[in-house]
Amino acid sequence: MAYKILEECISCGACEPECPNTAISEGETIYIIDPSKCTECVGSYASSRCAEVCPVDACVPDPAHKETREILLARWGTLHPGETPKA
Ligand code: SF4
Ligand code: SF4
Repeated sequence: MAYKILEECISCGACEPECPNTAISEGETIYIIDPSKCTECVGSYASSRCAEVCPVDACVPDPAHKETREILLARWGTLHPGETPKA
């Protein structure tokens, strides 16, 4: 399930460099996650990096993007061609 960023975001920027898929960027008012690039960190880490570093717990799973691990892994593969999944 792709993650999303809630309105509570204080635009500290801590999450952006942590994302292994460059799915996070600065939006007009808060930071945003591109669901087409978020793998819930599947393929790179055992848990979601953005959620771990966010000081206000604004990074949460998005129920609108429920996806299986297989789908997330396939997405990771297209984002990291030639690499082997680490998680
Ligand atoms: S859950 Fe992982 S892949 Fe998704 S936006 Fe957060 S850091 Fe990036
Ligand atoms: S770490 Fe949290 S508060 Fe900081 S930019 Fe990312 S979502 Fe916003």
